[in-house]
Amino acid sequence: MKDLTLEEIRHKVETGELTFVQVAEYYLAQIDAHADLNVYIEVWQEDCLAQAKALDAKLAAGQSLGALAGAFISVKDVICVAGRSVTGGSKILQSYKSPFDATAIERIKEADGILIGRTNCDEFAMGSDNRNSYYGPVKNMIGQDKVPGGSSGGSAVSVQIDSCLVALGSDTGGSVRQPAALTGVIGLKPTYGRISRYGLLAYASSFDQIGLIGHNASDILAVLNVAKNTCANDGTVSEMSNNPVDLEEVGEKLKLGIMASAFEHESINEEIKEKSLEFIEGQLAVNHDISPASFDYLDYVIPTYYILTSAEASANLSRYDGIRYGYRAENSESLDELYCNSRTEGFGPEVKRRIITGTYVLSSGYHDAYYKKAQKARRFLVNTFEALMEEYDAIIAPITPKLPWGIEEEISTVDLYLSDIFSVLPNIIGYPAISIPIGHSKEGYPIGIQIITKSWNENKLLKLAKEFSLEHQL
Ligand code: GLN
Repeated sequence: MKDLTLEEIRHKVETGELTFVQVAEYYLAQIDAHADLNVYIEVWQEDCLAQAKALDAKLAAGQSLGALAGAFISVKDVICVAGRSVTGGSKILQSYKSPFDATAIERIKEADGILIGRTNCDEFAMGSDNRNSYYGPVKNMIGQDKVPGGSSGGSAVSVQIDSCLVALGSDTGGSVRQPAALTGVIGLKPTYGRISRYGLLAYASSFDQIGLIGHNASDILAVLNVAKNTCANDGTVSEMSNNPVDLEEVGEKLKLGIMASAFEHESINEEIKEKSLEFIEGQLAVNHDISPASFDYLDYVIPTYYILTSAEASANLSRYDGIRYGYRAENSESLDELYCNSRTEGFGPEVKRRIITGTYVLSSGYHDAYYKKAQKARRFLVNTFEALMEEYDAIIAPITPKLPWGIEEEISTVDLYLSDIFSVLPNIIGYPAISIPIGHSKEGYPIGIQIITKSWNENKLLKLAKEFSLEHQL
């Protein structure tokens, strides 16, 4: 199915070549065939088939279909679906069922999109390789001993194995774009305030965005145009979000700035660098105006990001206390002990590390030295990047310095944090960014490149993605 866009699937169904039920059966069979990759925590098989059947009936009765009829969508385990479990890949929420739909989910359902299942992820979306899930690691289809990236590793692999048209993920510092790159698919982080965060489990609220992963740009566009728009339950969604994302508005020739400091960074893998430059010079430069863009502050983005997101996480995660939600430890003798035991047993080590870091940087003695300073650094980065963007339609940068690493490979926490160096900047600033596949390493591992643009310009990202992706080559 992956060679077909939603429009093409729809056409085949409308001309009788396929039925919605057959499409559903195909995706469900893909899930079964790749069960060993540990992608789905839960598959909603019965509902999915029943809804596909209902759509076939609707079509047969001559009723009009919603914009997402034929779109089967996987949902990262951090997005609430009414009546379904949502755990954030954590033991602490193991028994929690959501009483409501996230706004994005509600809109997808209204447009006849069908949800296929809940995908595995790093605990509370904290991680870069999907090894932090309570449900075990997700494996990369390209090499089962390799990580798929994270934290939306399950979302990316759900697309990679062709078990859905589009996957919903979340991107706080690269979690949609980085796994998309490591699995050879497209990942979009929209502008902060484009898609409502209502019903998205909060990690770092001023960075979090629901993101979309797919095989091609037009499917991502279709889902984005349904999921976006202002929402009564999330005041951070801007009125700007109501404007349609329209690829027709984008000119043919764009001014692209190449972030030289990133491609020359000491951490970047040689093959990624080589393939990226080959792509820039061989393909991008053919139709677009390219020039080097100078950005000298890359080394500040990781401390800024990890201080601020850990601070926000420590506050957001305080609600998981063993009383209001989810897991409660047994045999506690006092309220304090109950909180302490429930959190000790319910959270995994990475989440605890973030809570401790966050509490530390917010504590009265260190607030000014860390949290406040990081806020200033964030403002500085926003101003600097905004000024840089005056000259360009988009900036081209790597998305990750690394090829997929081994599931058993030991990597220090600091090295793992540092591997986010190219992906966190758009979240610090709120800008949209996309990762698109551009080729493979000698050993056959996917390589992606990142495009960043100004807020509300997702159309530029998707137009470029379309120009250089599979869909274009069909
Ligand atoms: N790797 C980053 C982190 O652990 C990004 C995670 C994300 O985008 N959710 O914070």
